[in-house]
This record gives sequence, structure tokens and C-alpha cells, in this order.
Amino acid sequence: MEAKSHSKSKKTIGDEPPSLQKTKEYENKIKIDDSNWYKISTTETLKRLDSNKELGLKEEDISLRHSKYGKNNLTETKKQSKLVRFLKQFNNSVIYILLVAGVLTLSMHHISDTIVIGIVVLVNALIGYIQENKAENEISKIKQMLVIRTTVIRNGERFDIDASELVPGDIVYLEAGDNVPADIRILEANNLKIQESVLTGEADSVEKDEKTLIGKVATSDQTNMAFASTSVTNGDMIGVVVATGDYTEIGKINQSINNVKQQKTPLIISINNLGKYISYAIVLTAILLFAFGVLFDIYEIPVLLLSVVTMVVGSIPEGLPAITSVILAIGVQNMAKKNSIVKNLPSVETLGSVNIIGTDKTGTLTKNEMTIKDIITENDRYIVTGDGYSPDGEIKKVEGREDLLNNKSNSKLYIEGDLKKLILIGALANDATLNQENGKWSINGEPTDGCFLTLCKKADLDTSDFVEIDKIPFDSDFKYMAKIVNLDESRYLVVKGAPDSLMDIILNSNSEFNQIYWKKKMTWLAKQGKRVVAVAYKKISKDINEIEHNLLEKDLQLVGLVGIMDPPKEEVIDAILQARNAGVKIKMITGDHPETAAEIARRIQLSDDNNVITGPQLDKLTDDELKFVIQDYDIFARATPENKLRIVKAYQANNLVTAMTGDGVNDAPALKQADIGISMGIKGTDVAKESSDMVLADDNFSTIVDAIKEGRRVYDNIKKTIKFLLPTSIAEGLIVLISIILNNPLPLEPVQLLWINMVSAVTISFAFVFEPAESNIMSKNPRHKNENIIKKQDTVRILYVAMLIASLGLGVNQHLLSVGVNHNIASTVTLNIIVFCKIFYLFNIRNDSSAISKNFFTNKIAFLVVGILIALQMSITYIPQMHSIFRTTSVEMQNWLYPLYCGFIVFSIVEIEKILSFKLRKIR
Ligand code: ADP
Ligand code: MG
Repeated sequence: MEAKSHSKSKKTIGDEPPSLQKTKEYENKIKIDDSNWYKISTTETLKRLDSNKELGLKEEDISLRHSKYGKNNLTETKKQSKLVRFLKQFNNSVIYILLVAGVLTLSMHHISDTIVIGIVVLVNALIGYIQENKAENEISKIKQMLVIRTTVIRNGERFDIDASELVPGDIVYLEAGDNVPADIRILEANNLKIQESVLTGEADSVEKDEKTLIGKVATSDQTNMAFASTSVTNGDMIGVVVATGDYTEIGKINQSINNVKQQKTPLIISINNLGKYISYAIVLTAILLFAFGVLFDIYEIPVLLLSVVTMVVGSIPEGLPAITSVILAIGVQNMAKKNSIVKNLPSVETLGSVNIIGTDKTGTLTKNEMTIKDIITENDRYIVTGDGYSPDGEIKKVEGREDLLNNKSNSKLYIEGDLKKLILIGALANDATLNQENGKWSINGEPTDGCFLTLCKKADLDTSDFVEIDKIPFDSDFKYMAKIVNLDESRYLVVKGAPDSLMDIILNSNSEFNQIYWKKKMTWLAKQGKRVVAVAYKKISKDINEIEHNLLEKDLQLVGLVGIMDPPKEEVIDAILQARNAGVKIKMITGDHPETAAEIARRIQLSDDNNVITGPQLDKLTDDELKFVIQDYDIFARATPENKLRIVKAYQANNLVTAMTGDGVNDAPALKQADIGISMGIKGTDVAKESSDMVLADDNFSTIVDAIKEGRRVYDNIKKTIKFLLPTSIAEGLIVLISIILNNPLPLEPVQLLWINMVSAVTISFAFVFEPAESNIMSKNPRHKNENIIKKQDTVRILYVAMLIASLGLGVNQHLLSVGVNHNIASTVTLNIIVFCKIFYLFNIRNDSSAISKNFFTNKIAFLVVGILIALQMSITYIPQMHSIFRTTSVEMQNWLYPLYCGFIVFSIVEIEKILSFKLRKIR
């Protein structure tokens, strides 16, 4: 508050002082720990922070401030410790059952069994722990990908940096859709509104400006401050950062803004439920079995109890939920590698069932590299040569007054009259900057703005004599942007925007307006697939300092039209073909002219009919009517973000799973409503990214199609995992069950069953994580969203395979015993039979169609796990130490034939069943 402290700051620094001293000095120089910035004038604020609105901070200031204030990040709330996570794995019903088994074996003095059970418990917990870690790591990696970028002015230049790099004193530029990256004192605001519900709970956006406040004002009423993690919903602003990271208001209440969560997906929930039902059934069976055993005096009681417990442990598919999370998490990771950042696990699942993709045109289907190709004024038509943002190219007159035609020698000399006005207005009603770096030209801002700057440079014109007074930034609802500018003694309103919007405004006040001429020209340009922008202006009185929409209402003069080329992305055509084959319908939604949209749609083969409906037409329909007709349309032109919300709802009302893309603040409701809200990583606003389920890192439509493919693969693999795990676990239980009922000695020792469980948990259950997509995955229609993961025919297979494996195991065991083979050998062979049946059955399940196909070798991991599994079986069969623990024994070579035969029998029967049921389905 005292201005004294920084009068000292101006003292000159002689020879380079050590950095520590510099920091001290700097601390004295700026006075940051003052939370009452709202009371201080903007000039004073800048002074205290030793910053400059036009130039921003200097390089050397920044590093000093970094060292003092650190990164602009919130300290993360403490994560669950590793130990706690590991211990949590023991809180699990299977573990409890195992512990019961442990106590039993101990009481029976089967110490080695107790030890095995202990190891199984540990291994189980460890696997659970590793899987959970894996899933969480993937999610947190995704979190890191969602960094927020922000536009700063440093060293007099405007560019984007990671918001975490901001320091107090930085000058930032924010516009509608941006998240406020730090606490900021507003220096300049245009129609600025900020949504502060995170801080204040108030859902409506509040108006903000730079005016200094007096007295004590609560945070929620500080109208000249923008607080970290709130968002700009309207207008734009320039401000100076006053607090970063934990020093911000949000940092003080320490509420994390990272909203990436690992949620339980509907699939995981239903799998958990499935698991629960199966467990109940197993426990019930176990109780009945125990009662049966006691009643009929089968085995001694402790042995009976242990057998029953073993049956329970053997048949509960305990690994299922964990492995499902891993498959989903790896899916998230794969998607991220292909540029789609999925923020939550449920979306991975939903992606696989998408029926409709509603997609933006500009920048998603097209390159968003705008180049002005045509200029049409009242009397003349010009073409512009050159591509991209580089100002190499010329403006050539092709139609119009003869005198100026065919003058190729020095075309730039003739830039005057309407042409000159148009070019200047286009560059003035503009929010972008054109930069050249290492000979490459690029823009910061909207491409539609940027191309006008390039045009201005091509014409060798310059707007630096104009002074900006106020502006209305572009938004998709009004479809224009306007500014008040001053040149010497004159003041102008300059506008550029969608021609029909501007013409409507002009027509209202000027009946003389040559509507027919301009409409014809507009349509002519649009039919070539070009985006059309109109340029208009009027002279206004010198005392108008503020701009409102109604300022446009009278005397606006249309100067001309430009045709902007924005070619489709090459890869989009192929992606659309893929999506169409996959039964996914694509709907184009754009603010552009219907003819522009239709032409682009034709070029990318969006659909067969390319039927267009416009936003205004849509507005006339009731929700019921819209629901009825919406399936007939593929292109929504002149659409506003509000239309998008209705479009999403209408498709959903038809029971279609709908994905919708968006980038602006106003797209947020549609993104939230959609089953999959997709935001643009590059041009998308922070608000859109926050409201979406998935962020496209490359803004590319084809990425969505890749994600859908991955979503389908993930779903398939989870399904396959269930189809694999259930019958094999049930088979283990059946072996025990049948033996008890028949009062036969158990063919497998409890420890042996535990062994099977343990080794398959560490090997086979991972096989499906890496199973590649089936070759026909993108030629099937999307699955129905309410489809049961296990269908009737799957249940049939689960049951018969379980019985088949159990009877093969029991049968061979009986046979061996009856020909006089000793019990240990028979058990060892039976053990190998179960494992081999699993291996063979794995290959049945890997492909829905025939197992023997060109896909056979695609999953290297499958072969790896099979290799490991065989090695483990070898070790239990041949290593003497294992013999004493697991009561196995070495077997002769020919005894390996049984497992091989049995595995092969399972394999062949399932393959035959596959062919038959495929034929059966065809007949039906
Ligand atoms: P899209 O969703 O296809 O990007 P928009 O709603 O952004 O459509 O744009 C609709 C129309 O508004 C465009 O056809 C163009 O005429 C006009 N327009 C777009 N961007 C700008 C801009 N930055 N300045 C002026 N007019 C623009
Ligand atoms: Mg746009």
C-alpha cells in the first residue's frame, strides 16, 4: 500500500550482482503479497508488479520470479500411499475365503499347504495392486496431457505458453472460453463476463471491467479481478497476473481443478455384479455340498471342508474386475497415442457403441488454413494468388471496370477505393496477429481473422494509423465481429462477418440495398465450397466510445465479400468411409453457408444424399418434429451452438448414442449432453475441454474414428476375457463338486487348484489386454447400447466348455487310476490337462470367427504368456522342490499326450460349435 517501497527500486544496478542478491533486490522492488489489488488503480498495480501492459515482462524478470514463486500449479492433494493401496487388496472376499483355507490347513498340520495359501494370498494381492497401479498411472498420464495454454505478452510479443509457466506480473490476454489461469487484475475488458461458480457457487456469469473499487469488497464482488480456475464466457480482456499457484484464491481453499477421474464404468459395475452373483451361487453350492458331504459321510470333516473351500476359491473369477480396469486403462493409453485423450473410463466403453458423430466442419473436417481466394466488391471482382498465411501472392482484377483490367505490371498500385476499404476493414475488425519466424508465417488467433492479415500484407497496406477504441469479439451466435476504430479526426465502426447476418441487418434500415446482386455473389462463392465473409463499415460520431450490437443497426455499408478457401483434410475422406462402413452416421454442423457446407460434404463423401437443413429452419421445428425429421439430415448449416444441443437431444431421443464435437464456450451444454462430448485440443477453449469426455489432440475427425475402433476393440476384449475366465474357473469347481458327489478321492489337491489359479492369474488373464482388433471390427454395426455383455449363446458355451474341461480332467484321472498309475502321477497329468485346456481354449476365444486365420499370430503377448505358462507347468512337474510342496511328480513323456489331446478336443469342439452357430444365426 505504501508507494515508498518501490521508489527504491529504481536504483541502478552496477556490475552484475550474484543472483541471490538479485532476488532480494527484486523482492524489495515488487510488492506482491497484497491481496487487495482490486483497490489499486491499474497503473499502480502495474507499477507494483514492475510490469508493462504493452510489453509484458522481460526475460530476466521471468526467471527470477519463477525461482521465487515457483510454477503456477496447485499442490496436489495427498495421494493414497502405496502401502495403503497394497493393504487394501486384502480387503476382498476371495482373500477371506483363502484365509479360512489357511486356518484349516494349519489346524490339520498341513504346513506346506498353509504356506502355499499364504503365497497365493500375497500373489493375489500383488497382482491386484499392480493392476490398480497400472490403471491409475495411465489415467494420470492422461491428466498431464490436458495442460492449459494461455496467451501472454512478454518482451513485447504475444504468444502462447503453458499456464503453469505464468509468474506474477505477466500480462495475459483472455477471451471467451478461456479458463482464467491465475489470479489476475483486469487492465482492459471488452464485454467481459466471467463464470465464477467454482469460487462463489454462483452459476450466472458476472460482468467484469477494470474499474478500481473502493472500500472492502468480498471476493465474489471484486469486479476488476479474474480468479484462477473460473472461466471467461463472454468478451475478452487483458490483465496482469497478481498471484499464481497456491497463492491464488482457489489455491487458498486448495480445491483441485483437475477433473480427470477414474470412475467405475457401467461395464465394470455390471461385471462386478456378475462376479457377485457367481460368487453367491458358488458359496451356496459350497454350503449345500458341505451339508451333502456331512450327511453322506464323504471324506473326513476337515478334508471335506478344505475341499469345499478350495472349490470356492478355484471357481470364483476374482481377477475379472481388475483385468477389466486394466483393459480399459490400456485402451485409454492406446487412444492417447493416437491423439484422442479420453478423460474417463466409461467413455472408452461408450465410444464402442457410437451411432452418430455430430462434427464441426471448420478445422475438424477441413484444414482450418484459411486463404482468401476471391474478393467481390460492388463493381469488381478480384482473385488472390498464393496459399497459406505467407503474404506471397497478388490481387488481380478479373471482372469489372475496363480501365483497371489486365494491368499486371504493378497491381498493388491500384489498390484503392472499395478494394482498399475492404482490405483495411478486414484487417481492422480482427483479433489475430500475423507472425514470421524463421521464414515461416503463422498466426495467433482465428484463421478466419488471420487470412485477412495476410491479404492486407499482400496488398502492402498497413493499419497502424488506426487506434482501436472498443470491440465486439466474434461469436457463433451473432456471426460477426465489430470494432470502433479511430483515424485522425474520424471514427468508424468496422465489421466483418457472415454475409447473410450482415445483409439482414443492413436490409432492416436500407431498402435500397442491392440484395439480389450480393446474394447471387454469395451463393456463387459458397457453391465452390468457399467460406464467405462480408465486410462492412460506417462512420460514427467521435463521442461514441463503446460498442453495442445495436450500433450496427443503421447506415451500415456493405463493402464487399471475400471467398475463403479451407480445403478438406485428406485423411478425413478415408475416415468417413470407415465410419460409414462401421454403421456410424456422420453429421456436419457448421456456421457456414448451406452451399459451402454441401460442397465440402460432397467432396468428403459425407453421406449419400447430403441433405441440408439450416439453423433458422431448425428453430422453427418443435422438439417432436425435430426428433422425427432429424434422421433425414446430414448437414446442419448456419447452425449456432444452441442448435447443437437440440441436435444432440433429438438423436438421443431416437435412442442413438451420439458423439458431438465442439470448441467454443457455447458448445459446452451440447458437449455435456452428448454421450461422448469431444472437444478440440488445439482450437478448443478450456471450457469446451472441461465439458467434454474426450479431447482431440490434433483436432482431426479421423482421430474420432480411430477412437471408436479402439473403443470397440476394448469392449470385445473385455467380453472375451469374461468368456475365457468363466468356463475355466467353473471347470475347476466342477471337478471338486463331482468328485465329492461321487465320493471319489479328489483328483486334484487343493494346493494344486490354487496353483492353477495363481499361474493363470499372472499369465493368461493378460492375454486379452493386448489382443488386436478383429479384422471385421469396423464393418459391423455399432453394438446396441443396452446389449448384455454375455449373450444367451455365450452362456451355453460357458457351461458346455466348463463341463467338457471338467469331464476330460476327471475322465483321464479315472482312467489312469484304473490302469494302476499312482495317484501323484494321475494328479499331475490332470493338472496339466486343465492348464492345457485353458491354453487351447484361449485360442478359441481370441477370434470370434475361425481361430485359424491370418490373425493367429497377431497377438505376441498371447504366445508369450502361453510360453510362460508351459514353463511353469514344466517346473511344477519336474522340479523336486515343487513336488514336495504341490504333491506333483515327474511324468514320462507320453503322459504329456493327455493334456495335448484334451486341449485339442476342447479346441476342435469349440471351433465346430462356432461354425454351426454361425450357420444357425444366418438361417434365422
Ligand atoms: P464454423 O462452426 O463452421 O466455424 P462459425 O459459426 O465459426 O462456423 O462461422 C460462421 C460464419 O461466420 C462463417 O461462415 C463466416 O462467414 C463468419 N465468420 C467466422 N469466423 C469469423 C471471424 N473470425 N470474423 C468474421 N466472421 C467470421
Ligand atoms: Mg468457427
